[in-house]
Amino acid sequence: MFGPKTYCVVIVGAQWGDEGKGKIVDVIAEQADLVVRYQGGANAGHTVVTGDNEFILHQIPSGILHQRTVCVIGNGVVLDPETFFTELDQLVERGIDVTSRVFVSDRAHLVMPYHKLLDTERDKSQKIGTTGRGIGPAYEDKTGRRGLRVGDLRHPDQLPDLLRERVDRVNQLLHMMGSEARASLDQSMALLSDLTPRMLPLATDTGLLVHRALADGKRVLLEGAQGALLDVDHGTYPYVTSSNTTAGGAVTGTGIGPTALDEIVGVVKAYTTRVGNGPLPTEAEGALADQLREHGGEFGATTGRPRRCGWFDATVARYSVRINGLTALAVTKLDVLDHFAEIPVGVAYHLDGERLEEMPADLEVLNRVQPQYEVLPGWQQPTSGARRLADLPLEARAYLDRLQDLLGTPIRYVSVGTRRDQIIEV
Ligand code: GDP
Repeated sequence: MFGPKTYCVVIVGAQWGDEGKGKIVDVIAEQADLVVRYQGGANAGHTVVTGDNEFILHQIPSGILHQRTVCVIGNGVVLDPETFFTELDQLVERGIDVTSRVFVSDRAHLVMPYHKLLDTERDKSQKIGTTGRGIGPAYEDKTGRRGLRVGDLRHPDQLPDLLRERVDRVNQLLHMMGSEARASLDQSMALLSDLTPRMLPLATDTGLLVHRALADGKRVLLEGAQGALLDVDHGTYPYVTSSNTTAGGAVTGTGIGPTALDEIVGVVKAYTTRVGNGPLPTEAEGALADQLREHGGEFGATTGRPRRCGWFDATVARYSVRINGLTALAVTKLDVLDHFAEIPVGVAYHLDGERLEEMPADLEVLNRVQPQYEVLPGWQQPTSGARRLADLPLEARAYLDRLQDLLGTPIRYVSVGTRRDQIIEV
């Protein structure tokens, strides 16, 4: 992916998250000097399989699994310090050297216990389907200008007052919601006292770090979490996450300019899944959905929740190409389709008898659209052993060609299994 003119590569999810970004990041991170997380929080749930080891990383960039890669938590991330240090400790236990390889933006916001409490209590009534990890409330505090940033840990004398105000506010909200739960000031104070000595040595101006790395000709990979349709602006609002998951978020969340980006890779699953509520036009039903779920292992890495499954939706993916400015695609989980005799692909929508080629902003409209399917022949043979396009059955190649045509964007990677080596680089 990197080359003589390609120093800065962004990877974004181009559907509803869980596209298998972790694996593609892992493959590309092998050639990267720096890997940066730029948005989201500890709900990422990337799964990377190396040899017999499976790592699920929620907060730390999956690039950590490569010996020489430096990992950065950018300013756009809301950092859950408990998850972060637990993951760091687990990596060390499993023999991964993390010394001088992890940096955290001093502008990144902290996810505090009171954010998690508020998230969990709210979801009981609102049913957005959050992961209860405090991400939404932490982003609310950020835009509400009452967040706690990593850099604030440098001023311990100010923390008790800051925290008291925030905990009081959350408790008022809980009271108004009719919840009996209450946030504890002591718990948050204790957490900050514990983590400050570990966090501060890692805290730095990571935007500057990335800028200098690029100036030195280093290769930088910006790793997105979730997917374009969960973007707070461009997704299926309000069934979205709290950050900009599209490529623009990569620059604001890292602290570099848009002109620094050389390639923007969109990861798409060969079919479609979604966790939680909200529209999913090409959702499959009954036995077909079950088959996709079973073969694809479509259960959330973070929550274990079964994912809703359906067919590839080219309208969604085309939209994603446009709003991200994708320059390349990585198609994952092609092998999951090995089992099907016929594979429908949603090529457009119909609404009240009219053809709709573009993604509507109005959820009421999106809920009413009828996907128009083209049914492609399946291949019904294993693809997991393929390492070149030529190894794939003709029908599988035709399927990929059709996706590429529908999206007008070249496919650079095809993933055919969970393992690192089960990849075709085109
Ligand atoms: P992410 O959040 O986008 O990184 O996605 P997840 O890691 O939550 O989900 C991807 C899941 O699919 C993980 O269990 C991966 O090991 C698995 N996976 C990734 N690529 C492939 C693939 O090509 N084939 C199959 N069968 N599984 C894959």
